Amino acid sequence: MPSKYLFQAKNHEHFYKYPEEYYVKPFRIFSNLYFVGNKDVGSYLLDTEEGLILIDTTYPTTRALLIQSIWEAGFNPKNIRYILHTHGHFDHFGATKLLQSLSGAKTFLGGEDAKMFRERPELALIEDAHYTFLDLFEPDVMLQDGDIIRLGSTKIRAVSTPGHTMGVFSYFMELTENGETHLAGLYGGIGLNTLCRDSVEKSGTGYLRDYYLASLEKVRTEPVDIVLGNHTAQNKTLEKYELLQKNPGNNPFINPKEWVQFPDGAKALYCQMLEDEHFGADQI
Ligand SMILES: [Zn+2]
Repeated sequence: MPSKYLFQAKNHEHFYKYPEEYYVKPFRIFSNLYFVGNKDVGSYLLDTEEGLILIDTTYPTTRALLIQSIWEAGFNPKNIRYILHTHGHFDHFGATKLLQSLSGAKTFLGGEDAKMFRERPELALIEDAHYTFLDLFEPDVMLQDGDIIRLGSTKIRAVSTPGHTMGVFSYFMELTENGETHLAGLYGGIGLNTLCRDSVEKSGTGYLRDYYLASLEKVRTEPVDIVLGNHTAQNKTLEKYELLQKNPGNNPFINPKEWVQFPDGAKALYCQMLEDEHFGADQI
């Protein structure tokens, strides 16, 4: 009986087979920040005076959608200078090698996940990708806590938030449009699939549990008023996009009350998982 908190690759089969059904028309969120992901997973493009920054490259099976979205947003994928990753799982670096070859972009990954690629490559969960040709990559920059990434006038603060993997990084960036400045925040990994009992027992990664709650707490008070998600369900990307289309004058992505709900919601789910384990209610 597997844990209901585990990643179930079979639930993704339709998605892997028909990725085109997960297409989302790319759109500008605020200032120079664009959404170029799909219905399931987020990917963000920042247009700077010195080229493009891409955060996460989605699944290997959705790499064509990603490239289509970058073009449709009005940009040439060859102009990507930096590719940042929230963490080292296959659903966030699926097109990295391809885009790196096309553009010569520099790649960034948390130092601990770069180490994971070298020492425990199976923890990148490539097996779950159902994609024969996916390969790991060697990052050019191994991120450390507090690193600042600059390109043109865009500045991204990288904060180490281990738990989901040891190398999870969350990103914070100030965005300005028409004299109005907002802080966008992207938490780099909240999934419990790597923290549930089955996973930590199978992989010997119980140490992840020592970090999860502390990382949520670490960024809880950041004055974020644009919440991003590396999966669209985390920040209701698609619902907000619909609202934005209906009423472009009232941007639903700007919401100073939303950020705190994010770590608090993740903490509640984590505590629920521990309780379910205790009572044996985590099995399906
Ligand atoms: Zn992950």
